Amino acid sequence: MEATEILQEIAGQVSACEKCNLHYSRKHAVPGEGPVNARLLFIGEGPGFNENEMGRPFVGQAGKFLDELLDFAGFKREEVFITNVVKCRPPENRDPLPDELNACAAYLDKQIETINPDVIVTLGRFSMAKFLPNVRISDVHGKPAWVNERLIVPMYHPAAALHQPSLKNSVIADFKALPNAITEGQNKKLFMLEQQKQEEDKSAADSAEQLSLF
Ligand code: SF4
Repeated sequence: MEATEILQEIAGQVSACEKCNLHYSRKHAVPGEGPVNARLLFIGEGPGFNENEMGRPFVGQAGKFLDELLDFAGFKREEVFITNVVKCRPPENRDPLPDELNACAAYLDKQIETINPDVIVTLGRFSMAKFLPNVRISDVHGKPAWVNERLIVPMYHPAAALHQPSLKNSVIADFKALPNAITEGQNKKLFMLEQQKQEEDKSAADSAEQLSLF
């Protein structure tokens, strides 16, 4: 099956999903949207009021701000894929519960596998915790990390930055620095691979030297 068809199939499954209680209160499920060949995948928390009305991710005030942030980073919304850790709106925008996150995880995992992005940008604590548990967002925001062969860049959620003006400048600075963070992460990986290769070459040379002694 083509990647586009797989994403469509996931979207269909999400729209009909009843795997957790969030399906009772949703108006529209929000599977996510963007090109199947996107190199950047943004993962937020869950749909809010406007997203639930329209069935699209990040369309309210936070979505408008995300568009501005993407602009700061030099990306267009049409170039990136945007989704959430839970695809249905938690009532009153409360935090998603552990059983809801677990129930919904397979959809996101399949989207990641299908899109296979170069970089995943997490927006907020819940998507960050999927890749980087046991860290505080205030300590790691904007800093690239390799997790299971994927480059993860954790960011504050745009809605949090809108509600807490003290975070706004921080999230803008992080997005402006996103291209550098991606380059830094990729260079770190190249450095690690080079070091690994040198160690393998050295160990092969040591083995050959030992053999030559017999
Ligand atoms: S949040 Fe996810 S698991 Fe729960 S009903 Fe919606 S699509 Fe299904």
